[in-house]
Amino acid sequence: MNVPERLPVELGERSYDILVGEGLLALAGRHIAEVAGRRKVMIVTDETLAELHLASLQRSLESEGIAFEAFVVPAGEATKSFSHLEKLCERLLQAGVERKTPLIALGGGVVGDLTGFASAILLRGTPFIQIPTTLLAQVDSSVGGKTGINTAQGKNLVGSFHQPRLVLADTEVLTSLSRRELLAGYAEAVKYGLIDDPAFFTWLEGHGRRLIAGDPAARSHAILTSCASKARIVAADEREGGVRALLNLGHTFGHALEAECRYDGDLLHGEAVAIGMVLAFELSAQLGLCPAEDADRVRRHLAAVGLPTSFERLAQRSWTPEVLLEHMRKDKKVADGRMTLVLARGIGQAFLTQEVREEDILQLLAEEISQTAVIQS
Ligand code: NAD
Repeated sequence: MNVPERLPVELGERSYDILVGEGLLALAGRHIAEVAGRRKVMIVTDETLAELHLASLQRSLESEGIAFEAFVVPAGEATKSFSHLEKLCERLLQAGVERKTPLIALGGGVVGDLTGFASAILLRGTPFIQIPTTLLAQVDSSVGGKTGINTAQGKNLVGSFHQPRLVLADTEVLTSLSRRELLAGYAEAVKYGLIDDPAFFTWLEGHGRRLIAGDPAARSHAILTSCASKARIVAADEREGGVRALLNLGHTFGHALEAECRYDGDLLHGEAVAIGMVLAFELSAQLGLCPAEDADRVRRHLAAVGLPTSFERLAQRSWTPEVLLEHMRKDKKVADGRMTLVLARGIGQAFLTQEVREEDILQLLAEEISQTAVIQS
């Protein structure tokens, strides 16, 4: 394989590197030994990855003389729950996890968030290594140290900040990912362009289809650009006191849609974020903050690559604007009872605001719902 690209995340004594490259999984053992020595590791993965890619990781650990044990959890969002967290922690404790035992998350955002949280709380913190296997996890969730689980009240409401010691993003593992999952991850890459990198958004407009079709160079470029952007934002605000909240562009709307779908697979997280970003730009345009042309560009590009940009696919659900707003009110970013939204002054010009009136949000949601009804009739 080519030499992997190395991107530092500068967080003082919690600094770490993100490595991005093709075929990196086969060399994981060597890179893990660099940061964690050759002590025994515990791998957490899901059923899908256990079949597809676990053996490759195990071979690379064996070749470095690193002992391991693997723990397989069910695939899917429902695994990010108290009950699965409890089971996983008990299995790891029974297997003799020690304070210095590295926990390795081999999987998408679900495995990463669950394993990271277990690693944060087991023995008050064990070393944690991320090997993200979805595009979403490679461009976003594996970097930055947010870990956690969902509850009946909403997404990611229980969790902690726990930075990994290393992130290994192998672009080759993405070849086994379904197109739908790939697109969901693509939405998070688009997010970085929309937050503060208009040149990256323009690049995605020109090269996004190549990336989706499997071009390794385009994939590497998008992963590196997204991670560099996230690393910069996280280094400036590790625990989301301010600017890091920009990474939630599209998420307040998106989480409301996900909550209403009850994480039943009808709407993937990245798909919800795609619709959420369209709504955030639409609202910005309606409030006169952002040119309508920019909001159109966002919707056009996401639709052109095949992401959902409206409620069309969810039309059989009888939503009301009030129900969705109620979910938005439960968002983690609510402060002193006021909702914080990420809006935009244009592509690459996202900002945080607590000034949006609820009636404006209700009106936007009502319009989206009624347009869906028109499409359906
Ligand atoms: P996921 O982990 O559920 O993976 C999606 C599906 O793809 C699963 O069925 C999985 O088994 C399968 N899969 C994974 N890698 C594969 C591969 N290489 N080949 C074939 N199949 C593969 O979902 P996701 O989209 O990776 O992550 C979504 C989660 O990430 C959400 O829970 C979201 O809240 C979280 N997230 C966290 C952060 C953060 O900062 N911690 C940021 C964004 C999203």
